[in-house]
Amino acid sequence: MNFKVGVIAGDGIGPEITAQAWKVLSVVGKKFGHSFERTDILMGGCSIDACGVPLTDEAVVSAKAQDAVLMGSIGGDAATSPWYQLPPEKRPEAGLLGIRKALGLFANLRPAYLYPELKEACPLRSDTASQGFDLLIMRELTGGLYFGARKTEEVDGLRTATDTLVYNEEEIRRIAKRAFDIAMKRRKKVCSVDKANVLDSSRLWRAVTAEVAKDYPEVELSNMLVDNAAMQLVKDPGQFDVVLTENMFGDILSDEASMITGSIGMLPSASLNESRFGLYEPSGGSAPDIAGKDIANPLATILSAAMMLRYSFDLDQEADAIEAAVKQVLADGIRTGDIMPLDEAQKQKMTKVGCTGMGDAVAERI
Ligand code: NAD
Repeated sequence: MNFKVGVIAGDGIGPEITAQAWKVLSVVGKKFGHSFERTDILMGGCSIDACGVPLTDEAVVSAKAQDAVLMGSIGGDAATSPWYQLPPEKRPEAGLLGIRKALGLFANLRPAYLYPELKEACPLRSDTASQGFDLLIMRELTGGLYFGARKTEEVDGLRTATDTLVYNEEEIRRIAKRAFDIAMKRRKKVCSVDKANVLDSSRLWRAVTAEVAKDYPEVELSNMLVDNAAMQLVKDPGQFDVVLTENMFGDILSDEASMITGSIGMLPSASLNESRFGLYEPSGGSAPDIAGKDIANPLATILSAAMMLRYSFDLDQEADAIEAAVKQVLADGIRTGDIMPLDEAQKQKMTKVGCTGMGDAVAERI
């Protein structure tokens, strides 16, 4: 099959890490008989330099014409880059907010997987870490407290601030459906996280999620209060498969889930809209401190490409092939600097590679 892929290489290490992901995609295409047609799209600092704004209308039109978009990262060093002399709406990050809005990306997926080979970096108790975990936080991205009406005013002589947390049933239903669809591709468990003992929005969330669950009899639905979920994530993360939650709870829990893997630089992410379209990117930033040195770790971007195959193109076997190749690379002791063990004896057993070397190592194992 033929798939149109927009590539936002972006700034800093972005071009280096997307080049490695593209190399792996090309090998997957050859092996499984697909072609991936690449269209480069400017966004972020490089777009400011070329066009004066972080995201042009043409870039949005081009992104919308693709089947999916693979992104590196955008932004520079805020202390030294001239991009940060500009007003906030003209800075690189405004491009990312703009494209998310323009593409209607309402579902954010962040897997947190503990690679057995990297478990020394996991900050959890060793008996917990040794059991491993493989979970996915599904966060609603365009509603809730961050998008509700807000104001600061004087009430009875006191400065008073109000934020509103609004969800309608349609917004809940569409993300819940996405979570159940994705659970069907995984271990068929959804844990919906809310604060239904206090919040009306959470009670509606729970009710609508239960309605959606009726269409997915194979998927087991559970509900958990967010305070308990925060504890369970560090106590027993292995119990979770898909964790479905609203915007603010998801913001916090997805960072917690990333941290417990101990290697945030290994984590991919996806943002999806109503159709199968998605924007896929590593969880990390543009790392301007190491840009252009061929030492960045491209694995999160390569794994983002695997997510793109799985969730936008329905190519599960091909996604499995990339994920298996990454696991094999780690099992073979191949490491970029950021995931080298600290222990000197362990380090001696590893083969240190750069960004290109890591891309080659994955491509060879497809
Ligand atoms: P960062 O994630 O870029 O870097 C933090 C540290 O992690 C640095 O020491 C960096 O060298 C290291 N690091 C990050 N990715 C790595 C990789 N793939 N391999 C090896 N080491 C890696 O975070 P920051 O320094 O806070 O931000 C730098 C820029 O990135 C800022 O402009 C920020 O706004 C931007 N940013 C962009 C995105 C995005 O594009 N979605 C996300 C986060 C930050």
